[in-house]
Amino acid sequence: MVDLPHNLWSAMRRGFMGTCPRCGGAHLFAKFLKPVERCPLCAQDWTLHAADDFPPYVSIIVTGHVMAPVMILLGSATALSAGLTVAIALVMAVTMLITLLQPAKGAIIALQWWMGMQGFAARPGKMEAGVK
Ligand SMILES: [Zn+2]
Repeated sequence: MVDLPHNLWSAMRRGFMGTCPRCGGAHLFAKFLKPVERCPLCAQDWTLHAADDFPPYVSIIVTGHVMAPVMILLGSATALSAGLTVAIALVMAVTMLITLLQPAKGAIIALQWWMGMQGFAARPGKMEAGVK
């Protein structure tokens, strides 16, 4: 018996956490950004997604909105040198970008699955695509 998510946000939260959006019981990713081909618990086929460039866009938008006030604060409220300010900001931005990539991809895969986009032909609870 598969514990299907109750709504889109539940599915996206599972994907964001790196677990299977359909059952929530297994890892979604085999490698850093490569999802497993098929969930070992619920048999959902995850090769059907097409997240493409959307996860990096999401990561860049979130990082930019967080880093903008940080940059203003570092530039105005501290007595750091320009080089040190840039170094701190670069490390923070790159770390945040890389940290957000996998959760963003997981959430986007879940979104596509829930909405029946790309290769996912049907919504959960109805005819389920990619499950044998
Ligand atoms: Zn699963």
